[in-house]
Amino acid sequence: MNEWLIALSEEDATFLARVALAFVVCLGAVIGSFLNVCIYRIPLGQSVSRPRSHCFACGKTIPWYLNIPILSWFLLRGRCANCKSPISFRYPLVEALTALLFLLVFLMWGNPRLLALNPLQAPELIPFLWLFVASTVVNVMIDIDHRILLDRISLGGTLLALAVSAAFPILHGAMLWSQGLTASLIGGAAGFGLGFAIAWLGERIFLQDAFGFGDVKWLMLFGALFGWRGMLFVLMLAAFLGLLMGLGAALARRLRRAPAEEGPLAIPFGPALGAGALLWLFWGRWVLRALEALQAWALDHRQAVLLTLVPLLALASIWLLIRIRAIRRAALEEGLEPLPDGDAPDPERP
Ligand SMILES: [Zn+2]
Repeated sequence: MNEWLIALSEEDATFLARVALAFVVCLGAVIGSFLNVCIYRIPLGQSVSRPRSHCFACGKTIPWYLNIPILSWFLLRGRCANCKSPISFRYPLVEALTALLFLLVFLMWGNPRLLALNPLQAPELIPFLWLFVASTVVNVMIDIDHRILLDRISLGGTLLALAVSAAFPILHGAMLWSQGLTASLIGGAAGFGLGFAIAWLGERIFLQDAFGFGDVKWLMLFGALFGWRGMLFVLMLAAFLGLLMGLGAALARRLRRAPAEEGPLAIPFGPALGAGALLWLFWGRWVLRALEALQAWALDHRQAVLLTLVPLLALASIWLLIRIRAIRRAALEEGLEPLPDGDAPDPERP
């Protein structure tokens, strides 16, 4: 691909690059439109191809010219053309997000003439990474709606990641197919093992299913795709994001003075895990560089770091122990049993 681009004039190459970028954005938006169908229909056990898209309120089939990703929603001002009932803003949001993710993958792994963001140019990985970002969007949205992470994504994705690692070992920075496959196998096993340990411990410490078996299988896919180091970073980023989301939800609840009967906050971990994986995919290199810089700085200022960090860590540990006791006591008082895998908490529970 590079060779014939070099033979072109600078002007022609720029023009072609722009055409390619526009095409990728449109492709991402169209795929995003299909993902909306998957997110709605797969958990209900419906076919994703039939029937054609229709309005949920009046049942009228949506003609193709009113089913243009992103644009149609804004042209119709978020209402059905037939019955005027509102259409969720989530539809154009998923389409725009998918278009953005497709563009990012194309820019980072694509042709260096487009935008050299990533020293690891590997256009052959683009279709698989597109598949990965699309499946991540689906899993996050379904987890928000139903507290389910799809097996066909985590298990199917792990098998595909193993095959891609053997076919394109550059995914793991390796040259030989056996090295790529080994890195992927070790990563997948590490993801499954670590996830299983966290789920087991979480259930015993918090007496609740904080990290379900769906999360374990998804972590296995991240290991097979990113290797064990990348998997660890995804988990750490997810824990950090999950903490932020939890704090945000608790704050929002306090601000609207929610009644105490609402029970404990149950936030699915899937969105944090998916966001962590995407962060690592696109910005892992920068995360590593930032950590190296931080490490160098900490080594230069050893005493100051120790003086502030040790008391902070001690305080945080005490706070964590108090929280764990409170959560355990609340769980025991409610007679809450550990939830079965992947099920939503039962609202009818006394
Ligand atoms: Zn309608």
